Amino acid sequence: MRRTVIAGNWKMNKDLSEAIKLISEIKSNIGNKPENVDVIIFPPYIALETASTLIKGTPIKLGAQNMHQESSGAFTAEISAPMLKSVGCEYVILGHSERRSIFGETDELINTKLKKAFAENLKPVFCIGETLEQREAGIMKDIIKNQVEKGLSGIPETDIDNLIIAYEPVWAIGTGKTATPEQAEEVHLFIRNLIADLYSTETAENIVIQYGGSVKPANAELLLTQPDIDGALIGGACLKADSFTAIINTAN
Ligand code: PEP
Repeated sequence: MRRTVIAGNWKMNKDLSEAIKLISEIKSNIGNKPENVDVIIFPPYIALETASTLIKGTPIKLGAQNMHQESSGAFTAEISAPMLKSVGCEYVILGHSERRSIFGETDELINTKLKKAFAENLKPVFCIGETLEQREAGIMKDIIKNQVEKGLSGIPETDIDNLIIAYEPVWAIGTGKTATPEQAEEVHLFIRNLIADLYSTETAENIVIQYGGSVKPANAELLLTQPDIDGALIGGACLKADSFTAIINTAN
């Protein structure tokens, strides 16, 4: 049985005192409740160490929004996997569409980062998704297949146990437009079948595939009840404790 994973990508939001406030509110809202759900928060780097202390003893887990593919060196302003581990991160988002489109991250670079994350025992949340133009041109499945095959190239099946995939249609991120549950389910099933082809049916059955793109309390239930949607990666709605915890409660 796959666990449901609800994750909050804070992006470049919240200074340290705001981060402390948000985490405290999430903690008091959820208590020890989400027995059937894994909850992960992805605050900005500056709040990771504090977040790690604040979530000790709670069901909340911690991740970072990106990392560099090398362990250390002359890479001004970058952050490495061992650094993330040293402040208590268990997860890292890789391949987010904003990293791809604004910062020029390629499938090849994301593949290198995924390999590094596995080597350092960080669990990646690997983001994929098509643009509106690509969907309208009828090449959505080719794009997804290409992202999955290139992103996971050379990664052994044993690592896939520690992988989460997030399907995030680019046209639904931060736009208020959500994929319908049927549109999302179609792609999730397609991704699961790709994993079966690349690895095995068992690995495909076990892998968690989250949906991301304007998830909010009002649309979470219909999305999360689709058979191949195993959770949500949430941007805007994770910045307020009430909306984030409402989605966690729905998932639970
Ligand atoms: C995201 O950035 O991963 C995301 C899904 O954002 P939003 O929920 O705001 O669309």
